[in-house]
Amino acid sequence: MPELPEVETMRLQLKKFLTGHVIKDIKIFSEKILSGDTKNIIGGKIKDVRRFGKVSVIDFSNGYSLITHVKLTGQYIYQGPNLTTNNYSLSSKVIGGVPGPHTLVIFDLDRGGVLYYNDVRRFGWIKIVKRQEVNDERFISKLGKDALEISLEELQNIFSKSSRAVKVVLMDQTKIGGVGNIYANDALWLSSIDPKRKANSLEEKTVEELYKAIITVLKAGLKYGGASELAFVTPDGKEGEYQNHTLAYGHDGEPCERPACRQAGVRIEKYFLGGRGTYWCPVCQK
Ligand SMILES: [Zn+2]
Repeated sequence: MPELPEVETMRLQLKKFLTGHVIKDIKIFSEKILSGDTKNIIGGKIKDVRRFGKVSVIDFSNGYSLITHVKLTGQYIYQGPNLTTNNYSLSSKVIGGVPGPHTLVIFDLDRGGVLYYNDVRRFGWIKIVKRQEVNDERFISKLGKDALEISLEELQNIFSKSSRAVKVVLMDQTKIGGVGNIYANDALWLSSIDPKRKANSLEEKTVEELYKAIITVLKAGLKYGGASELAFVTPDGKEGEYQNHTLAYGHDGEPCERPACRQAGVRIEKYFLGGRGTYWCPVCQK
């Protein structure tokens, strides 16, 4: 599922492409994907795109907003005057193309622009609400502080109050917003922490190492435009590249890259923790 770097990369592109566009019409091909009245945003001019954890919010100048979560396989694809490229090519991860059999919503924009929403698994959702109701949306009202904005002291405080596994706490969106499975695995490898250690057993110094590691891996994710292992693509139809730069995620059976481990032939192992694939080095992560 897209995490902070993927959703932030998507937000930046949506903001660049959509700001100033007016929605002329909306065609819906799957009723259950969208709630709220589309009439409230038809004719509305897009003025901003915000992110809350893994959720995106498109604000209109008429006081309404569109809240959306792409979940596992949702994709927003823009085509129009604000995307000028001579070699436009859509990633093969946009299954069926646009418009295609997996296109669930088409937003017709002014000046010949179009925004498509594709979703193969159909777990994603779109809600149209008044702007002042955005913060009441259940996902947003319960969201913890954003992983790129949280302070070390706040992180220490969250961990000190929980005896759950550190990786599970790290991925709990009500505690910290934006960290999912890929970046949690990599941050724990980078800070040499055993993912199943109890959060409240971490020494202050260890939490500080983890804090720095979270920022490092999220920034690497942003630098590479997110990870496209499953279905994530950016609104320009391209894939991110972080999946080619992960530290532990997806590396089961491969050598641990820490020099001492590598020399000793130690390999990354995989098991399930809280139902999620967990990749770790049994030697250097303690
Ligand atoms: Zn190792």
